Amino acid sequence: MPKYKIIYDRKNCISVGSCALLAAEFWKMNPTDDKADLVDGKQNEKQKKDEVFELEIDEKDLHQNKEAARNCPVNVIRIFDEKGKEVTL
Ligand code: SF4
Repeated sequence: MPKYKIIYDRKNCISVGSCALLAAEFWKMNPTDDKADLVDGKQNEKQKKDEVFELEIDEKDLHQNKEAARNCPVNVIRIFDEKGKEVTL
């Protein structure tokens, strides 16, 4: 089954919360700073100071995360396929 990778630029999240409404299993608002957390996302070691998180997802979870990405007003959620090509939202 194809895998996809979410890449989330948390630093630039502006706390709108539509991701958490549209894909609640994957996105939760963090009460500490009101930004979204990518549930189980791993921080990219090379970009630690930039707060970039990554998570691999299966095809069955693609649709809801595409919705989250499409509705993020600052486009800080991006999704890539196995070949590293960005998924069209
Ligand atoms: S939709 Fe985008 S800006 Fe809004 S909380 Fe989610 S990641 Fe942050």
